[in-house]
Amino acid sequence: MPQYDVIVVGAGNAALAAAVSAKESGAERVVVLEKAPREMRGGNTHWSGGVLRFAFDDPREIGPLVPKAEEEIEDFYEGIMPYSRDDYHGDLMRVTGGRTDPVLSRILVENSKDTVFWMNEVGKVPMEPALSLSAVKKDNKVIWARGLVVRAKHEGVGLSRSWFRTAEEMGVEIRYGTAARSLEVDERGRVCGVKVRDDDGISVLTAHAVVMGCGGFEANVQMRTQHIGTNIGGAKVRGTPHNQGDGLRMAMDVGAMPWGQWSGCHATPISADWGEFAPREMTDRSNRLSYVYAVMLNRKGRRFVDEGEDAALFTYAKFGRAILAEPGAKAWQIFDSKVLHLLEPRYSTSDPIVADTLEELVEKLDFENPQQALATLKEYNAHARDEDEGYDPSKKDGLATTDGMELPKTNWALKLDKPPYHAYSATGGITFTFGGLKITDEAQVVGTDWRAIDGLYCCGEMVGGLFYDNYPAGTGLVSGATFGRIAGRSAARAASAAAGEAAAA
Ligand SMILES: Cc1cc2nc3c(=O)[nH]c(=O)nc-3n(C[C@H](O)[C@H](O)[C@H](O)COP(=O)(O)OP(=O)(O)OC[C@H]3O[C@@H](n4cnc5c(N)ncnc54)[C@H](O)[C@@H]3O)c2cc1C
Repeated sequence: MPQYDVIVVGAGNAALAAAVSAKESGAERVVVLEKAPREMRGGNTHWSGGVLRFAFDDPREIGPLVPKAEEEIEDFYEGIMPYSRDDYHGDLMRVTGGRTDPVLSRILVENSKDTVFWMNEVGKVPMEPALSLSAVKKDNKVIWARGLVVRAKHEGVGLSRSWFRTAEEMGVEIRYGTAARSLEVDERGRVCGVKVRDDDGISVLTAHAVVMGCGGFEANVQMRTQHIGTNIGGAKVRGTPHNQGDGLRMAMDVGAMPWGQWSGCHATPISADWGEFAPREMTDRSNRLSYVYAVMLNRKGRRFVDEGEDAALFTYAKFGRAILAEPGAKAWQIFDSKVLHLLEPRYSTSDPIVADTLEELVEKLDFENPQQALATLKEYNAHARDEDEGYDPSKKDGLATTDGMELPKTNWALKLDKPPYHAYSATGGITFTFGGLKITDEAQVVGTDWRAIDGLYCCGEMVGGLFYDNYPAGTGLVSGATFGRIAGRSAARAASAAAGEAAAA
């Protein structure tokens, strides 16, 4: 008899959802293998903002998740728009250019609300309104970004802590400092264990089924460079240093099929002042996502994206990569004083460079060509608009630069005319990779022979095919928990069937 019913590799949101789901589905001996030591546990989930995108028809449906919201936020429900399953799927289709996996994206969207309620009820993850990230105040009313109203209480730190607590309470064993190195396969081709490295050396743990939820390859410079390119090779890492692509490599070594956009990743504008890896205690505070209210210039003094193309939470995941492609992988976000109150609180983790005139400001920044920077800002101002022309930060306001700009700004194109002017640096920080493995609708890993691999399941960032080029904010955690829950349930069933077969033999 193997040592475990189910081995879960990884200890982020997806893996712990799988472990809890396996237990809930009847697996008795479930172990979680976490490569990181206890003090670094939890993967990117710990670093995350904990925001959860899910579909609902009536805003009041979310009430049980955030029971105190009405007391704490005036007219809470009035600022929330319904976000139907078709809206969610439409957003996924739009930002991925129609390339999201049709089966997996439907599973994600159809299950999204149920998954979040399951995280709350079974996972015992407390939740709260995601006020600081996805709400904007307009005429004293709080207006919410569509589909993005709820987050885990205490963000990713709280989410991760809750998952560990619940898993432990349910009797899941957690082995820290235990890195999975390879998968064991029996003579029938069934995955039956994991070879690990821990303080005692190398050993094999056996199980009826294995769930892999051990992240992408965002922290692995060689794999980033090889699959995504040299710009991303040089990116700073926003989350855990432990997601090195181990699980993807191990699964492909036993025949798993790569799936999705291996040349794609989620990379966001972050402060250029941060180090190669984001400090754990600062979690996601490196983000610089208020560029929709700014003009963003590269070091040559030129604009390179339409800052107002869409709401930031629909462009941030690709604009980090856009900055990495610019000279020195750096940009400056320039704001005037009219919009400073709209800056996300995360900007407070660095000091802006401030000046009373645009001339003075460009001299203070490290442009290779300050004259060009000034000319770009003046050209922008000549085509930009005034507040009373319909400016509205609570929605895509259509307030675009007037004709004649080679690269227009299509929303929130306000003039930079109220000093003092503030500049914040930005570079691209990689969050996670889009390439993963092909799975069935039961989260079983598919081999390069197009047949499911017995005993092997996968979830979280390791799942390929959902995201291409871009990503709608708040989808990673809901996707992780959705496929984690399915993977845990499937693995428990497979374990039970395998135990039955063994008993009958
Ligand atoms: C700064 C930041 C902010 C974010 N904010 C949000 C947000 O607000 N909303 C949202 O939906 N998404 C957000 N994301 C994305 C989200 O965090 C990820 O999509 C999600 O956490 C991935 O979950 P996961 O379980 O697949 O991987 P992870 O949480 O990264 O977990 C991977 C686990 O595998 C372990 N591991 C790796 N290799 C091995 C090995 N060989 N053996 C054993 N264990 C191993 C790691 O140590 C870790 O425990 C954010 C990400 C970052 C970095």
